[in-house]
Amino acid sequence: MESTSDQSISESSSGFLSDQPSCTKPSVIVIGAGIAGLAAARALQGASFKVTLLESRDRVGGRILTDYSFGFPVDMGASWLHGASKDNPLASLIARLGLPLYRTSGDDSVLYDHDLESYALFDMEGLQICQHLVAKVGEVFEALLEETKKVREEFAEDMSVMKAFSIVMERRPELRQEGLAHKVLQWYLCRLEGWFAADADNISVQSWDEEELLEGGHGLMVRGYAPVVTSLAEGLDIRLSHRVRKVVRRRHHGVRVITEDAKIFDADAAVIAAPLGVLKANLIKFEPRLPDWKEQAIADLAVGNENKIALFFETVFWPNVEFLGVVAPTSYSCSYFLNLHKATGHPVLVYMPAGRLANDIEHLSDEAAASFAVLQLKRILPNATEPLKFLVSHWGTDKSSLGCYTYDAVGKSHDLYERLRTPVETLFFAGEATCHNFPGTVHGAFATGLLAASECRKQFVEHFKELNLQPAMADDISNELLPLQISRM
Ligand SMILES: Cc1cc2nc3c(=O)[nH]c(=O)nc-3n(C[C@H](O)[C@H](O)[C@H](O)COP(=O)(O)OP(=O)(O)OC[C@H]3O[C@@H](n4cnc5c(N)ncnc54)[C@H](O)[C@@H]3O)c2cc1C
Repeated sequence: MESTSDQSISESSSGFLSDQPSCTKPSVIVIGAGIAGLAAARALQGASFKVTLLESRDRVGGRILTDYSFGFPVDMGASWLHGASKDNPLASLIARLGLPLYRTSGDDSVLYDHDLESYALFDMEGLQICQHLVAKVGEVFEALLEETKKVREEFAEDMSVMKAFSIVMERRPELRQEGLAHKVLQWYLCRLEGWFAADADNISVQSWDEEELLEGGHGLMVRGYAPVVTSLAEGLDIRLSHRVRKVVRRRHHGVRVITEDAKIFDADAAVIAAPLGVLKANLIKFEPRLPDWKEQAIADLAVGNENKIALFFETVFWPNVEFLGVVAPTSYSCSYFLNLHKATGHPVLVYMPAGRLANDIEHLSDEAAASFAVLQLKRILPNATEPLKFLVSHWGTDKSSLGCYTYDAVGKSHDLYERLRTPVETLFFAGEATCHNFPGTVHGAFATGLLAASECRKQFVEHFKELNLQPAMADDISNELLPLQISRM
């Protein structure tokens, strides 16, 4: 299936869906060994396809990246299972692996993945804000969100969440907050921006709440997400450090995939599970070009940015809460730290900038980024010590991701996820950006991998039927349901 010269593409090599098929075991190339690509590859291999996975990095997992350099696992990409219940498509795998979860919030939290009582908020002078004020402003924030829904019903044209907020404030001046309460309100906004990895002036008010939240609250992967991807990768033919640069659809079906270093792979079909950021930047060329509706969807769906700066300290000097928040006059200057000590027992705080702030910090050196995070910490806890070690992610500029996850930008339709998912001939698409109900999540990406595999299998079964052939394909892998191990300290 592989050759190494990058000559002009010949039509002679037999794509299986050619007019004269010679065997009944079809082949598929999966591009990208993130959770979506791994799920697709596994399901297809389970269904007796010959599968080759091409991965640009020297590791699997993509935006799941568990770092062990502190001597214990720290997730620098995804770290929560959103929807810690058996309804989650990943639940059975996580349970089978015996991976414990630490629940940081139940259902319906205004702060998404954290309950209010698990936060300690401070102002820039290190003054802790009383919980009563935090809760009161939380109610105002919820009222604001409710009012924005009315605004969107009135206006035919989409607008940003920020613009809708300002319309609500004009109409309901009593929702405006002054002084410290204003800063706390900005902090709520900052958390919302963190959830979308985008600034409120870019997020569509039409679509901001379209995402489906599974029941069970949000569970932090105490031992990191890595075991999930490692187990999925077992037994697959994965070619690491194979960056795909071109995908050619051939006249008699079948695909040819060419890597950066001119290796050629031919197969009957391909699953494109590379991130949307990579597709938007045209780092993978399609020949012939993808249809307009697909290109437009790639252009229109937005990718946000969030980074993590993990700080490893000698001892714990901070309060025993799950999150430390810094309130400020604008959401841009607010921030928060995840206290990993609460869930894992390790003295680590993770600073998590999102949106424009994440992009700005990403241009700093790692040392400067870590110093910036420590400076924020010292503002709220003047006795903070210097970290022993630090880790800094670069999801926005890493050319294997070019962003953190998708969000709906102003004026763009919510059917973009579906358009991104829809196959083009023998090209199938998977990944978080192809998931309209759970975009930007690990379980959503996983589900799209299984879906792409199942669609690919279906197409082959139909084709074999037309040719009166008996395919040598088994059913997709099945998932037994096991109870998750969930705790809260
Ligand atoms: C900081 C951060 C925090 C997050 N937190 C959470 C969370 O707590 N919970 C949650 O559910 N989700 C979270 N997410 C989102 C989640 O990580 C993603 O939705 C999910 O991992 C995406 O999986 P994927 O397979 O679609 O893409 P990816 O994981 O990005 O996989 C795509 C793969 O394609 C490879 N690739 C790229 N270009 C090429 C090429 N040219 N050729 C070959 N291979 C290529 C990449 O290296 C990568 O391995 C977070 C993401 C980030 C960045």
